[in-house]
Amino acid sequence: MKTTEKLKKYLKEIEKNDKNGKKINAFLQLNPNALNDAKIIDEKIKKGKAGKLAGQIIGIKSNMNVKGLIASCASKTLENYKSPYDATVIKKIREEDGLIIGMTNCDEFACGWSGETSAFGPTKNPQALDLIAGGSSSGSAAAVSGNFCDMALGSDTGGSIRVPSSHCGVVGVKPTYSSVSRYGLVDMSMSLDQIGPIAKNVFDVALLFDIIQGKDENDSISQGGKFDLKKINKIPKNIVVGVLDFDISDKRIQKLIDEKILKVSEKYGWKIKKVKMKYIDFAIATYFPLVYVEFFSATRKFDGRRYGKKIEDVCGPEVLRRILGGLEISKAEYGGRYYHKALQAKKLIEEEFRNAFKNFDCIISPVVPRLPHKIGEKISSEEMFQYDVLTSPMNLAGNCALSLPIGKIDNIPIGMQIACDKFQEEKLFRIARAVEKLKC
Ligand code: GLN
Repeated sequence: MKTTEKLKKYLKEIEKNDKNGKKINAFLQLNPNALNDAKIIDEKIKKGKAGKLAGQIIGIKSNMNVKGLIASCASKTLENYKSPYDATVIKKIREEDGLIIGMTNCDEFACGWSGETSAFGPTKNPQALDLIAGGSSSGSAAAVSGNFCDMALGSDTGGSIRVPSSHCGVVGVKPTYSSVSRYGLVDMSMSLDQIGPIAKNVFDVALLFDIIQGKDENDSISQGGKFDLKKINKIPKNIVVGVLDFDISDKRIQKLIDEKILKVSEKYGWKIKKVKMKYIDFAIATYFPLVYVEFFSATRKFDGRRYGKKIEDVCGPEVLRRILGGLEISKAEYGGRYYHKALQAKKLIEEEFRNAFKNFDCIISPVVPRLPHKIGEKISSEEMFQYDVLTSPMNLAGNCALSLPIGKIDNIPIGMQIACDKFQEEKLFRIARAVEKLKC
């Protein structure tokens, strides 16, 4: 189908079910130039001069700069902030003729688990309308799941790509830390933030990853890994799978994961062993001091002078909690006690994963140990923290991980998390493709 026709079909669907009808609320803004851009891309396709993403229609989380569109971060703070430039990932997408359809909803400044902290209303889960889509990249996952676009970009600091992908039944990847440039991403916690792709299948996330990854002179810590898209179709042999030994609150979820991996290993002759990670229980306690301090620091530029409104004047309670928490624990009298302790713990987690990946090709677990709650339902902070308990360790360790839909419980999609060592995306996608192929 021509890009123009496909775009029109998606725009119709958005009109029908994102704004009206089911009111999913995945998009905060549509690209007013999309139709024009689509025509240019179709012209290039006709001439045989189009790039690798030609024909792909892509939604972008609202915490990335897309020139001329609003990077509101789903906050009143930046409600009218028009991006003056393209983030590196956007530049790369445009160079390969990907079409940007619009900016997606998310938790305010990517702070959240459920998509409910957006200043512009929660995103509904297209697969179960009364439930949360999962956060913070709620709109990006819902846009793909709701069939409003082909692919999307999200950002993942503690689980924000994988959690909503799991709940919405799509594939979402948190690439290795530093493998994708963060230039043009609004920081939440810069030592953990990672941009990554969301799509309907493993091949498509790999395709988008292939384009956005690599060294960028505007992000000094970015680095190019070895990645060959052509290799991801080969079923990998002699794989040793580590099944994470962790007490999952909803036993049905673990059972689904165990059954699936058993069938996969029988089919491909992969070995399965249980793996215990002793520091994983410290992940949440390690994650928050880092996030609070780094988020506090990152938000100091939103003082109402240069960009939009003063953040403390207009933000929601979750963002304010993190700013005040960050202010408190970075006070001089604490002498960096919390932040530095957290950095030490992060090192231990990183080391534990590095060692585990000497014995295992991948580690698998559920993405989320519970089913998503109802939109608006009051749940305790402890219950909320559960959403990230299995995803945040991967951000702390810096390795790559993805969420792959493997079935449903109570008609709600369940994602399997597959994690590989740093810069092993090729292996990660090959394993995920093999699991995806096996329909059972
Ligand atoms: N839920 C986590 C948090 O609120 C992770 C968010 C994210 O990955 N951006 O901090």
